[in-house]
Amino acid sequence: MIYKKYGKTGKEISAIGFGGMRFPKTGDTYDHDKCADIVVRANELGVNYFDTAPGYNDDHSELIMSHAFKSMKKPFYVSTKSSRKDGSKLREQLETSLKRMNLEKINFFHIWCILSLDDYRSRMVKGGAYEAALKAKEEGLIEHIVFSTHCTGDEIETIVNEGCFEGMTVGYNILNFPFRQKGLEAAYKKGLGIATMNPLGGGLIPQKADYFNFIKSEDDKNVVDAALRFNASHDEITTVLAGMSSIDEVIQNCKVGDNLVKLDQNKLKEIEARLFNSMDKLCTGCRYCEYCPKEIPVSKYMLSYNNHILGNTQDVLDNLKNHWGIKQEDVKDCIECGLCEGKCTQHLPIISRLKEIGAFEEISK
Ligand code: SF4
Ligand code: SF4
Repeated sequence: MIYKKYGKTGKEISAIGFGGMRFPKTGDTYDHDKCADIVVRANELGVNYFDTAPGYNDDHSELIMSHAFKSMKKPFYVSTKSSRKDGSKLREQLETSLKRMNLEKINFFHIWCILSLDDYRSRMVKGGAYEAALKAKEEGLIEHIVFSTHCTGDEIETIVNEGCFEGMTVGYNILNFPFRQKGLEAAYKKGLGIATMNPLGGGLIPQKADYFNFIKSEDDKNVVDAALRFNASHDEITTVLAGMSSIDEVIQNCKVGDNLVKLDQNKLKEIEARLFNSMDKLCTGCRYCEYCPKEIPVSKYMLSYNNHILGNTQDVLDNLKNHWGIKQEDVKDCIECGLCEGKCTQHLPIISRLKEIGAFEEISK
């Protein structure tokens, strides 16, 4: 396993991290022994970053992790999160996480799921989330305060340049990287550690392996390898959080972390060109369509719409609500001026897709 420096924290983190949100169910619930074995195996193979959160896996994830930690022989770091905006509520959640995982401190504590700059500001107010995290850090309950976000590259740049965080976790993958690349570069330049989540495009890449075959290079056995290697090979990215559901997946993912090839700007451009040429119907997240006069976040709607093209219409609605935090009905604000379509690098029929998204509400009922 290759290890990389997590920003300026002095910590060396495994290139593949454990994403604790995809544990397998046995019947209606989770067999904690069986799930913990998956975590322990990852640690045996060199993974030292374990990411969990309240609520993951019907709130079982932190408990499964805790169970696994008791048997882990190699050193490891724990990441968990709180999305509470109110300081006292964040403190409550932090204390619950510490108690559940039987830990004295959280190594990487996330101000969780920042959706926009307004949302960021709401976490930074007096008596708010960040202030409570800072106090907990002074008390030794948190080692490093970091954030996770679904913001655009520009918004991420603003957040990191305000200098409050030591690291961040962002959704970044071979299908959407132009959307956040600027933020990634800004964070790296500022000396933050960077974990990336969602490297498999929410499962789309393995589900549609034939479609995404074009992302493979000669070193990759399959599209999952290709997608993980793409993230892990970035200098900027410290660790790639892969959600692992079985010991076989742990073994496969850890092999990627053993063998990385540096991705320089030329290689990235080559992949970007392949992506743009091959995904003729899909949005690539390049964001050339921005600056809509009605302030519609077109790229977010079009990235969500990708799920519909790939056969998962319900995921469009889930993605709008849970990933982006934007409203389906706001597509109705479109005045059909055509500015976005004129700029779209993929020549997508944005106006008609927005209309379709608006209609999905009726379809899903
Ligand atoms: S066509 Fe609609 S979404 Fe596109 S720029 Fe004009 S108002 Fe915005
Ligand atoms: S809609 Fe077109 S221009 Fe906008 S992000 Fe997607 S591909 Fe790029």
